[in-house]
Amino acid sequence: METVYLLLGGNIGDREAVMVKTIALLNQKVGIVLQVSSFYETEPWGMCNVQNFLNIALKLSTRLTALALLNVLLEIEEQLGRKRNPLITDYESRPIDIDILFYGTAIIQSCRLTIPHPCLQARKFVLVPLCEIAPEFIHPVFQQSIITLLNECQDNLEAVAIKPYIS
Ligand code: ADP
Ligand code: MG
Repeated sequence: METVYLLLGGNIGDREAVMVKTIALLNQKVGIVLQVSSFYETEPWGMCNVQNFLNIALKLSTRLTALALLNVLLEIEEQLGRKRNPLITDYESRPIDIDILFYGTAIIQSCRLTIPHPCLQARKFVLVPLCEIAPEFIHPVFQQSIITLLNECQDNLEAVAIKPYIS
């Protein structure tokens, strides 16, 4: 079994309902969801005139390999209505994005996967929810805790807790 941290994000439709559904599907298809942060709201990073994002960080335990996990996450995104436009490589509005932040202490760099997630140390919309559930987790590349990375983060887009997640 491996302990994994994920970040869920979305800014289209009933954002909260989609997240709740995502968590149910993770429990069905991926493993056991152990901890879920509050819902956080953030202004969209690098996009104008779109709805704010809702984000959640969660911890789960899974028997899947990192690549098998990615494939199931992409399936869940599609099941919940995410359509990818291969011509857009920038951030896009989406009902749900599921990113792997950490897969245990693994460091993976392949054409399909970069773990730890490459931008997490620069984005408060990742660090703030993650810090709620894993402040002492040590980033396997930087060898610093999440709370330290958050305290040092220069991102000026704040993530604001709007309500707790209640299962
Ligand atoms: P983003 O999350 O940056 O908005 P996408 O969700 O469209 O972009 O992801 C595009 C691709 O990023 C995925 O198909 C996957 O192969 C790749 N990827 C690389 N590292 C990760 C990771 N840690 N978690 C999720 N996807 C990843
Ligand atoms: Mg993604």
